[in-house]
Amino acid sequence: MSKRTRCARCERPIKTCLCADLVELSCNYRLIILQDPKEAKHALSSAPILEKSIVGAQRVIGEVFDPVSLLGEGWQSNSLLIYPHEKSLSQQQAVEQNFKNLILLDGTWRKVARMLHLNPWLSELPCFAIDSSYESQYLIRKSPRADGLSTIEAAVKVLNDLHSTSEKTDQAKNGQTFDSILGAFNKMIEFQISAMGSDTFNKNYSSNTNHSPNKNHSS
Ligand SMILES: [Zn+2]
Repeated sequence: MSKRTRCARCERPIKTCLCADLVELSCNYRLIILQDPKEAKHALSSAPILEKSIVGAQRVIGEVFDPVSLLGEGWQSNSLLIYPHEKSLSQQQAVEQNFKNLILLDGTWRKVARMLHLNPWLSELPCFAIDSSYESQYLIRKSPRADGLSTIEAAVKVLNDLHSTSEKTDQAKNGQTFDSILGAFNKMIEFQISAMGSDTFNKNYSSNTNHSPNKNHSS
């Protein structure tokens, strides 16, 4: 495969530059995305878009992470792991505890399980789970995460939840959500669908879509 010229800002190929749709929003937290190296190589990874869409967000690629260098002293009490756990905090608890860092794990469920195994310190952190009723628009990749969401969709859901009762940011004051950061992600998917051609898309992926207004989960 020839090396295509990439846009310096969004790092996508020039032909499919996402800059026109990229937004940059501030949030109350430092967002840290721990990304599995294999996921980092995936052309349709959503984490790079997420990193560019949230002020101060940081994507760290690797398998083993040191909590102190990543989160600073006091990491046990100032960091919230976005992961389903039986002892997950409620939305109100998560907001009230005024965490400084939000940690997202980016990889397939198998890689994320491995990441948790290799980094036992992650299990010491309080957890917050994503409400699974949210429907993914990630039409062209089979759910890489256990909850079927792309990492950027998971982040939007969590950021909306954690800012809805907060008055600290302008976004929250104005009743705005973080949904606008999905614009660039949706554009990436559009580009990919048009690159593969609608015939290929319909043949291989249309069963993943949520286009039917009366989607029946029992079928
Ligand atoms: Zn660009």
